[in-house]
Amino acid sequence: MKRADTQKQVFTIFITILMSLNLITGVFAGTEEVSRDTLCVGVPVDRCPMFYLDDEGGITGIGADMMRAVSEEAGYDVSFKRINEVTLKEALDNEEYDVVMPFGSAIPSAAGHETIVSENLLQTPFTLVKGGDRNLSSINKLKVGMLKSLGGAAETVKQLFPGMEIVFYNSMDDSVKALRTGEVDALLNNSYVWSYVLQKPAYGDLSVQPSNMFSMDFRVGAMDTPKGHEIIDRLNAGIEAVPDTHLQAIVLDHTSRKLYKYDFSDYLYQYRWFLIFGGMLFAALIIITTMRVRVMRLEQEEKVRQLIDKDPLTGVLSLNGFRKRVEELLRDHPDVPYLISYNNIKNFKYINDSLGMAAGDDLLRFWAQKSMEVMTEEDAIGRIEGDHFVVLRKAGGDEKMLRDEIDVFEPVRNFFIDKGKGNKVQICSGVYVLTPRDHQIIDVDHMLDFARVAEKRVRDSKKDGYEFYNPEQWERGKRSAHIIGHLPVAIKDEEIQVWYQPQVNYETGKITGAEALCRWNHSKLGWLRPVEFIPALEEAGLIYDLDCYVWERVCQDLRKWKDQGKYRSVSVNLARCDISEERNISGHFYDLIKKYGLEPDQLHIEITENAYTEEPELIKKTTEELREFGFRVEMDDFGSGYSSLSMLKEIPMDRIKLDFRFLTGAGDPEKGRIIVSYIIKMVHSLGMDIIAEGVEKISQADYLKEQGCTEMQGYYFHKPMPVSEFEELNDRIEAEQ
Ligand code: C2E
Ligand code: MG
Ligand code: MG
Repeated sequence: MKRADTQKQVFTIFITILMSLNLITGVFAGTEEVSRDTLCVGVPVDRCPMFYLDDEGGITGIGADMMRAVSEEAGYDVSFKRINEVTLKEALDNEEYDVVMPFGSAIPSAAGHETIVSENLLQTPFTLVKGGDRNLSSINKLKVGMLKSLGGAAETVKQLFPGMEIVFYNSMDDSVKALRTGEVDALLNNSYVWSYVLQKPAYGDLSVQPSNMFSMDFRVGAMDTPKGHEIIDRLNAGIEAVPDTHLQAIVLDHTSRKLYKYDFSDYLYQYRWFLIFGGMLFAALIIITTMRVRVMRLEQEEKVRQLIDKDPLTGVLSLNGFRKRVEELLRDHPDVPYLISYNNIKNFKYINDSLGMAAGDDLLRFWAQKSMEVMTEEDAIGRIEGDHFVVLRKAGGDEKMLRDEIDVFEPVRNFFIDKGKGNKVQICSGVYVLTPRDHQIIDVDHMLDFARVAEKRVRDSKKDGYEFYNPEQWERGKRSAHIIGHLPVAIKDEEIQVWYQPQVNYETGKITGAEALCRWNHSKLGWLRPVEFIPALEEAGLIYDLDCYVWERVCQDLRKWKDQGKYRSVSVNLARCDISEERNISGHFYDLIKKYGLEPDQLHIEITENAYTEEPELIKKTTEELREFGFRVEMDDFGSGYSSLSMLKEIPMDRIKLDFRFLTGAGDPEKGRIIVSYIIKMVHSLGMDIIAEGVEKISQADYLKEQGCTEMQGYYFHKPMPVSEFEELNDRIEAEQ
């Protein structure tokens, strides 16, 4: 074991010695490497292929590789540094660099210090580049563009060609621009640089001028100092030692192998046509797509427009479509006489209710189809709502209207009869004849309004058929609308007054009562008579407002007279529309007399004969209720309407107001008298009272008295008068008796 241990120790010592030796050798070797000086070489990097940056950002190029080879021979480690100065002359003054290159010859530094240069490394050919096929004159007279960084070379050039004018540019692009604009005749640079730069696609129009070539040296420059001298000397030795073949290999390496590297702008230039066409194609695609979208949108809009302009049920125009078509036609045919008609089926609601909606729709479609059969391209038809058809038709006189009557209206009227259902369709039409002015100022709605006014007159007349519009109707309609709108203000401002028309007993001469009749002193239109505003208010559904006001005023007067010890009674008018299921009219009157402390028999309530004929059940019920409360109910205007004698049997009432004007007006007066005498007898026999109104002459009064009717009201006795006059009259008569 001991022997083995000793052997092991010897081996370890041996190894240690070996390792120490190796270490020492390494130290010596290290000392040798440290002794190699590092040479800092300042170079420009924008001169491919002479000096440029490789992919990793290291400095390379013909000049760089040659300098490496030379430095190797001269025993230098070389380190290249990119110069930041604009010119090589300025770089010479920067102490960071030991040497600067390339120089053609020794030139003073920018600060004016003397410099020295090495032996020539390479004879670099300089070439002029010109634009297109331009011919250059003598090189000595040229204006030449050079890069600013070639300032050193420029000085050499100046020495060589004193007549040459040199203009400096910051970049290759700037200099090329100057060449293209004719600012300079040619550009001057190292041929190796040109061989690289002219590969740029955008410089395809530039060409080398081979006849004007000259060579310049490619040397290393240093300051004229001892150190500079030492470096240049060592480098000269290196230059001497580097074989020419090696230098040529370097040149070849960078000119044949290193191809021009395309940057983004080069690709843009290279593929410019492709890009332009591609762009145009893309733009065309965008335009086509946009146009297609637009067309589709227009088509869509057109579809929507058609939906709006067409009536889906009958296929004729809608109101909107009709308006447009009429405008077009009137504009296109300014001299054609036209008429517009507004047509309405009078009993359409009944048809729908009794025969069903589908039957109603069939009728509308049939009407549309029949109308279209007779119409031309220059006519138009539209359905504007429910059963309302509007038609624009070329005017053709009575003959054409008769033909339409036979071809369209008669078949429509007999639509259900022909199907065996036995109902005649009633059509009301209003016709408006267009004036030349309507062709100038085309207002379709206005024309339809006119036709509608005429249609309404037919409808109101309880007949069917057609009527022509007349302008007075229109004016009346406008005035009515104005009156209606003004009612609330009129009530508030007391424009409406209650007048009284006395009722007298012809035998005794006493005033037995009065009828309350309203008068309207309109702030703008002056005095208005009930015949004008009552029907308008009835139609607008506002008559109840007016009547409530009148009844209230009457009750106030009755109260006032009662307080004066004068127990009077007044007849008030009840409009047809005042009586409805919802309105408890009898309750309303009862509340009124309670409010003013009156007796029910002081109020006589006049209901017109027409109201009885229209809604007999409702009127009967209301009449009974009123009478139960103790009010006296009177049938107004008896004899003026379509009174049914059986009504007298069915509806109980207290007094009949015989309208003497209707019975004595038109026709044979003798027959009228006979009718009056029998009515009086009949009414008495039925146990009711009778009063004659509209008595204008003494002969009438005498005749009525003879027949047993002593109560009378009429202009012969008194006209309606304001309340104060009525009070004075009463006082005077009472005083006389
Ligand atoms: P009415 O109820 O038949 O009233 C009688 C109308 O005949 C009154 O017309 C009156 O002035 C008129 N009159 C009376 N005697 C004669 C006469 O001898 N000769 C002629 N030619 N006319 C005579 P007025 O005041 O113009 O009223 C017309 C209609 O208006 C009334 O007819 C009545 O139905 C209605 N009316 C008037 N005031 C009101 C009211 O406050 N409410 C309601 N709902 N209707 C009223
Ligand atoms: Mg009356
Ligand atoms: Mg009357």
